[in-house]
Amino acid sequence: MTPETAETLAARLHPLQRILDLLLPPRCLACGDVVERQGMLCAPCWAAITFVADPLCRCCGLPFAFDPESDADSPGGEGFACGACLAEPPPFQRARAVMRYDDASRPLLLGFKHGDRTEAAPPFAAWMARSGAELLAEAEVIAPVPLHWRRLVARRYNQAALLSRSLAGLGGAPALPDLLLRRRATPSQGRLSRVERQRNVAGAFAVNPRRAAALQGRRLLLIDDVMTTGATVSACARAALKAGASAVDVLVLARALRD
Ligand SMILES: [Zn+2]
Ligand SMILES: [Zn+2]
Repeated sequence: MTPETAETLAARLHPLQRILDLLLPPRCLACGDVVERQGMLCAPCWAAITFVADPLCRCCGLPFAFDPESDADSPGGEGFACGACLAEPPPFQRARAVMRYDDASRPLLLGFKHGDRTEAAPPFAAWMARSGAELLAEAEVIAPVPLHWRRLVARRYNQAALLSRSLAGLGGAPALPDLLLRRRATPSQGRLSRVERQRNVAGAFAVNPRRAAALQGRRLLLIDDVMTTGATVSACARAALKAGASAVDVLVLARALRD
C-alpha cells in the first residue's frame, strides 16, 4: 500500500471509529471503566501493573533483585544467567515477558483468555514487541503454544494464536498458528507443582508434519499468554528442536514470579 492510500484510508476510517467509540465506548482492558481509546488501560490499572524490567537473567528473563553487572567481582560478558538456568539450562535459548502475573494483571489475562476481549490482542502484541524486541527481530518463524482441539472448540479462539498473528504483523517473520499440535489434552495445571507440570506436558506436543519443512534450520519464536514454571514452553521447545528448529525463543505477556 502506498503512503497516500494508507493516509486516505486512515482519514476515511477515523470518523467511523469515532462513531463506533460513541456507540460502544472503549473500556479499560482490566477493569472495564471507560477509557479514551480502544486497547488501553485506565490510569489506576496501568499503575498497578508490574512491568518486567532489566536486569534480567539472559536466558529465562527472570528479573534480578540487584544488578549483577554492578558487582565488580562478577565476570563480564553477555549478561548473567540465574541459578536455575545455570543448574539446568532450559531447552529454549531466551524467554522474555512483558509483565508480572499477579493480582493486578490477572483480570487482564483472564478477560483475554475467557472473556472474548480479543480486541486486546494488538495492544498486547505491541507491548510484547517492545519487551522482546531482540527476539522478534531474530525470529524466522512465529508460532503459538497450541490448545487441544476440544478446548479450542469450547473457547472458540486460542489467545496465544491471536498474539502471534499480531506479532507477525509487527516483525518480519510469518506466524504459523498450526505449527505445533497438542497431541493429547492435558489436565489444567493450576494446582500442580513444577515436577508435576513437567510430567503433565511431557510428550504432549508435536510439530505438525505439514509444517515441519517451514521449521527446518529456522529460529522459532514461541508465543503464549502466561508462563508459570516454563514446563509448557519447554515441552514445545523440545518438540520444535527435535523437528529441526535451529533455536527456540519464548515471548509471553505475563510471567508468574515467586517473591
Ligand atoms: Zn482499569
Ligand atoms: Zn534464568
